[in-house]
Amino acid sequence: MTATATLTPQSVKIGPTKLLINGEWQNSASGKTFPTINPATEEVIAQVAEADAPDVEAAVKAARRAFEDGAWSKMSAADRGRLMYRLADLIEANKKELAALETLDNGKPFGDALAADLPLTIACYRYFAGWTDKIHGKTIPVAGPYFTYTRHEPVGVCGQIIPWNFPLLMQAWKLAPALACGCTVILKIAEQTPLTALRVGELILEAGFPPGVVNLLPGYGPTAGQALARHMDVDKVAFTGSTEVGHLIMKYAAESNLKRVTLELGGKSPNIVFADTDLDAAAEGAHFALFFNQGQCCCAGSRLFVEQKVHEQFVEKLVTRAKNRKVGDPFARGIEQGPQVDKEQFGKVLGYIEAGKKEGAELMCGGGRVGNKGYFVEPTVFNNVKDEMKIAQEEIFGPVMAVMPFKDVDEVVKRANRTAYGLAAAVWTRDIEKAHSVAARVRAGTVWVNCYDVFDAAAPFGGYKQSGLGRELGEYGLQNYTEVKTVTVKI
Ligand code: ADP
Repeated sequence: MTATATLTPQSVKIGPTKLLINGEWQNSASGKTFPTINPATEEVIAQVAEADAPDVEAAVKAARRAFEDGAWSKMSAADRGRLMYRLADLIEANKKELAALETLDNGKPFGDALAADLPLTIACYRYFAGWTDKIHGKTIPVAGPYFTYTRHEPVGVCGQIIPWNFPLLMQAWKLAPALACGCTVILKIAEQTPLTALRVGELILEAGFPPGVVNLLPGYGPTAGQALARHMDVDKVAFTGSTEVGHLIMKYAAESNLKRVTLELGGKSPNIVFADTDLDAAAEGAHFALFFNQGQCCCAGSRLFVEQKVHEQFVEKLVTRAKNRKVGDPFARGIEQGPQVDKEQFGKVLGYIEAGKKEGAELMCGGGRVGNKGYFVEPTVFNNVKDEMKIAQEEIFGPVMAVMPFKDVDEVVKRANRTAYGLAAAVWTRDIEKAHSVAARVRAGTVWVNCYDVFDAAAPFGGYKQSGLGRELGEYGLQNYTEVKTVTVKI
């Protein structure tokens, strides 16, 4: 990989395209493959092995063996940490290549992949590598002649299912805490974007992880994903994706072995702008909150509440910024927005734009396709959106902003909370009382004040209500990968 300017889809190195089971690259049992597409050109990048139930079976067997009898189960916590640091170093050494592959498969601008996805991915492995030898229980004073202590043991064999919007980062959020706790993993990679997770699989082998500790299965949700979530020998399932599939994952767990479940699901996050804020900073923040990653963020600030006093002037700023957004070839320098990930998402986003128009929201800019090849959508701003409109209720997952004016704090908090979701929220104000009061009253797992999308491997992330179950990242994220055992000894 040389300078950015020379990057083209043809120059990107494609890594493995098979399943990783028990430390070996394999074809699927059925021999089936599926195409992965470059969303900027609609061309097939590669055929990838398609996992299904028999492959899940083989991967679970390998993960169980590694968990119970293999080198992994005998390895010290500190040595586990060393392997994870080594993996982080290898990802860092190959970061340009991985960023380019992410751009090719997902469509996100290369500059964003390199500046955001890669550093966050590397930091996540390093953060959890540091935890491996710091996970321990307590001694507890109990009544009588007894000595009681707790052990925090790995939950066991983990099935993990990830989406396509941040393929490398979602892989890190899933693998890193599980491995830190001593679990073994079967990761079902999203069918739209399998390539970078598989390339990391190669680096996992190079780092020296024992066979069966990490198994990677590209494939579809209703087949491979369902088989994994229903498997009787999987101890925990961790899922990131739509709320609709989140319901299914809980059902699969309930109908099989009551495996532990954590879910990171959809959102319709309120972004609240008060008149007393720095309006230019808030406009730029609101633009980023919605349009970053082509609008394909579960925590996108997709309900933008603006105080009535400044509403018109604020919308003007938003529209100017949206019209200036640079959309195009994600490998080109200076590009801010690439294509949506695939044809299905592209169609869905355009469908929501039509719904917005039909329901009477004011279309201020955008509203259509860009060009005639690739899944590019114009940065779109709707003004005077009503709470009950479809574009204010449902997750669009695209570059479509919905602006809604409000009068006062009580009204906006009530409206912000009137949703089935509760993933994230933001508030923009110079008034410290207002900031903390709104942060406390909004029912969401993360609240940003005068900023948006600030992520750190140490800060927990997850949803209230139908945005999820449990937290990822930070110390809280570890809790989902351990079981607590109480040991009592007569003395
Ligand atoms: P999106 O609509 O953003 O693609 P999904 O929730 O459909 O979100 O997909 C997220 C992940 O869940 C992907 O890896 C997908 O293959 C998987 N998935 C989809 N349907 C199921 C299912 N029925 N069971 C298990 N996994 C599924």
